[in-house]
Amino acid sequence: MSQVKILLDESEIPAHWYNVVADLPNPPAPPLGPDGKPIDPSALAAIFPQPIIEHEVSRERWIAIPDPVREIYRQWRPTPMFRARRLEAAIGTPARIYYKYEGVSPAGSHKPNTAVAQAYLNHIAGVRRLTTETGAGQWGSALAMAGRMFGIEVRVFMVRVSYDQKPFRRSMMETWGAEVIASPSSHTRSGRRILDLDPESPGSLGIAISEAVEEAVSRDDTKYALGSVLNHVLLHQTVIGLEAKRQFEKAGDYPDVVIACCGGGSNFGGTAFPFLADKAAGRKVRLIAVEPESCPTLTRGHYAYDSGDASGLTPLMLMYTLGHNFVPPSIHAGGLRYHGDSPLVSQLCHEKIVEAVAVPQLATFESGLTFARSEGIIPAPESNHAIRAAIDEAIACKRSGEPKTIFFTLSGHGHFDMTAYDRYLHGELEDISYPADAIAAALDQLPKVAPS
Ligand SMILES: *Cc1c(COP(=O)(O)O)cnc(C)c1O
Repeated sequence: MSQVKILLDESEIPAHWYNVVADLPNPPAPPLGPDGKPIDPSALAAIFPQPIIEHEVSRERWIAIPDPVREIYRQWRPTPMFRARRLEAAIGTPARIYYKYEGVSPAGSHKPNTAVAQAYLNHIAGVRRLTTETGAGQWGSALAMAGRMFGIEVRVFMVRVSYDQKPFRRSMMETWGAEVIASPSSHTRSGRRILDLDPESPGSLGIAISEAVEEAVSRDDTKYALGSVLNHVLLHQTVIGLEAKRQFEKAGDYPDVVIACCGGGSNFGGTAFPFLADKAAGRKVRLIAVEPESCPTLTRGHYAYDSGDASGLTPLMLMYTLGHNFVPPSIHAGGLRYHGDSPLVSQLCHEKIVEAVAVPQLATFESGLTFARSEGIIPAPESNHAIRAAIDEAIACKRSGEPKTIFFTLSGHGHFDMTAYDRYLHGELEDISYPADAIAAALDQLPKVAPS
């Protein structure tokens, strides 16, 4: 019998997170304030507690994972790695395909890895209430659960279109005790500004972030939590790649290519950064971020300073962006519809240390079905992007006869996304490519900052 699951013991949960900043060839560009000058980290104190700011700006290579966080990680970590033997057979590839499954967390995705850490760091700083935004509902669910574990009240601004389309994600957050508000809402100035322009606005992640940030700034008892994009979030997610490396040691293999889908970059950074440490040390490994053609931030966006939200409340970050006013086409991978991307992932992409590809929606669902019908697990629509890229690599191996080792992270299950599968199965989904003129137009809306 040949091994299918590669498992680690609870004692092998990483003791440290890996901070890629320590291994970057060039230092990260600083975030800028509204005046175009680098902000002092203390400027973040209005929305984040001190322990999170320390993670955000740290240059230490290893940061200890606090024991209470590791205790909670035990509930579902280490996550399993699978050798996708049945998928390999279905494709007929000589490649060896491995995937790490983050859908075993209580919220069903990788997001609790940082939600638990953030809730804990807010808790030790005395924070009693958090605001956040959620698109597809994955992040809101993760923070609702994590907040509950540390006695923190959570208010989630949920993008209107998802609020209407995914009532069960909302119920999930409410089950964990969070309050869920459809965004744009009349609770905030940012929300009212959008509703005045368009009472039927479907909302966007950028708008929901504005609402959550505005409320955190205006209330003493409240801080804000972000589920992706920022350095501290990617840091917390490196448990994925660190465990994966140990699992490859156990399997006696090592990936030629590492693949993850990329929305704000936390799943990709968490998966790929620990391998990047090996790459920096001279090892050959390709790292590929996969995004939707309808929201092609890394592959077609501008590398420029832009704001993280629609109203310009956040510091400006140097990243690939489609413009902060971007309202994405309503594709079903809601977690991949952000206008910007992690500054760390953007920099590495700009410096050609990591690669990015964009894939069309129908091809991702086709791959999701191939995966579900061979491996059994029904993937989140976001994860289908990684599967598409992995299958494409495996098909290339079939043509060339090369037995490469392909690794991807299966970031979540799709149990709350069956409407999307239903529409695919009934031929109701389509490919939407983001128009080139909209990308060009975004350039004019970017904040003007003097080149450094
Ligand atoms: C949120 C989410 C993503 C994408 O977000 P990143 O910040 O890029 O990680 C991918 N897959 C799933 C299942 C998600 O919930």
